[in-house]
Amino acid sequence: YHQIKLILGDQLNAQHSWFKETDKNCLYVIAELHQEMDYVKHHVQKVCAFFHAMQSFATALNKAGHDCLHLTLDDTQDFRSLPALVKSLVEKYDASKFSYQLPDEYRLRNQLSSLLLNNVEVEVFSTEHFYLEDAELGDYFTQDKHNRMESFYRKMRKRFSILMSDDKPQGGQWNYDQKNRNKLKSADLEDIPEPLLFANDMSSILKRLERHQVTTFGQAASSLLWPTSRQQSRELLNHFCQYCLPRFGEFQDAMTFKSDHKWSLYHSRLSFALNAKMLSPQEVISKAVDAYNQSQSVDIAQVEGFVRQILGWREFVRGIYWTHPNYGHNNFFKAQRDLPHYFWTGDTRMRCLSEAIKQSLDYAYAHHIQRLMITGNFCMLTEIDPDQVDDWYLGIYVDAIEWVEMPNTRGMSQFADGGIIATKPYAASANYVHKMSDYCSDCYYSHQDKTSQRACPLNSLYWRFIDVHRDKLGNNQRMGMIYNVWDKKSNDEKEQILNKAAGVLRNIDAL
Ligand code: FAD
Repeated sequence: YHQIKLILGDQLNAQHSWFKETDKNCLYVIAELHQEMDYVKHHVQKVCAFFHAMQSFATALNKAGHDCLHLTLDDTQDFRSLPALVKSLVEKYDASKFSYQLPDEYRLRNQLSSLLLNNVEVEVFSTEHFYLEDAELGDYFTQDKHNRMESFYRKMRKRFSILMSDDKPQGGQWNYDQKNRNKLKSADLEDIPEPLLFANDMSSILKRLERHQVTTFGQAASSLLWPTSRQQSRELLNHFCQYCLPRFGEFQDAMTFKSDHKWSLYHSRLSFALNAKMLSPQEVISKAVDAYNQSQSVDIAQVEGFVRQILGWREFVRGIYWTHPNYGHNNFFKAQRDLPHYFWTGDTRMRCLSEAIKQSLDYAYAHHIQRLMITGNFCMLTEIDPDQVDDWYLGIYVDAIEWVEMPNTRGMSQFADGGIIATKPYAASANYVHKMSDYCSDCYYSHQDKTSQRACPLNSLYWRFIDVHRDKLGNNQRMGMIYNVWDKKSNDEKEQILNKAAGVLRNIDAL
């Protein structure tokens, strides 16, 4: 082979220009790597999903007439790093050219850009996946605090003419939040659609992981429910547009423990298919917009809510990631506590936390509000070391890749970036959890109490957080009202609340 082209596990883009024509002088390589198994401890379903999707992609390429080499952990066990493997392949096949697509992560980008190959031409390609090319990110993002998702999103809507009539947003508004974000009432529970699940056979991958003593966690499943091919990804997208999109926005933030489909609700569960690039964001958005145009059952508030997540948030966090290379060192609140043991088991009496964690262990999935307002909020209020929080999120979710995980976790959920992404911390007491879920109705703790023995820990923790970080948050205009409420409390009440919070923190492992 004259040329070797590397395809990373999250570069499974069958529409890429690389594959327009077949070239018998070119060998594609997709490899399971040992170095990807231990940079963080992963959920077993995450590893299985990537490995299976890689295998399906290699098979599809070979079927389409390309030459694609699929290497398993067995084949790559002598190579502790990606550069070592590439060097050996280039030598073995006597290739004069090596090509790769720009990785979406600093770690891999650095590894590949510092690769030294003698007398071999190296060419780097775009992944042709995102709306914004890498070189454009600097036009949209600056290294200061003035990157705001809403203005970025509006620019994107205009530039790519999505849900626009002339220069105006379709429906007349940019944002339909007030129509969205409802709680699920009892009558709504029966309508929750059954999720479309796949049954991909994992037996040989699981054996391989065991053979190579790969340490994983979470519920292993011999048949994996996540989509691992382009066809399955498209089926999931169609299923979403038909059954979930009509009420996506409405119940986007809702949580319940009272339904068999409590983990999936109206969410698309497309994040793995998107992040592995089996689906493009353009394709997902255009399907959803078509569904809106063609079906009476999808209104503008639902489709706008969905488009905002992909055209807005997804592209936005990527821009923040690449324009803030030191993001991973931010620790605004100097948080240092260890992650409590129940993050690995779900064994806590706090119903909200236990639901979100157990579900994550079972499915390698939780939806946005569980990640942000349940586990995330808890970690921020209890000052867990953001490195540990990042590692937990990066390991546990099937869709977790650093470029999207880190700004969401460190920034959105922990405010460890001091406000690069969010204008104020997403801090909440039990009041919010009670408003958006039915968790509190069946909890050991009382969501109404602040200081009693069974008071929900979130209540005292919330006020402690407000009190302790006055120096950092007191001047934030969006926090003014909260500080007014706190300041109006009597000294006695404040003291009781702070004492209670101190007790909660002392006993954090026993909650
Ligand atoms: P839906 O609710 O159906 O949303 C549709 C799509 O919009 C998603 O598939 C996703 O591609 C995109 N999207 C929605 N919200 C965001 C967001 N905040 N940032 C980027 N894309 C978004 N998403 C990941 O893909 N990988 C992660 O590792 C990840 N970590 C997160 C960690 C925390 C603490 C938080 C608060 C959010 C995180 N998110 C992450 C964003 C979001 O929670 C997931 O994308 C979403 O829950 C995936 O489920 P879904 O496909 O059913 O999403």
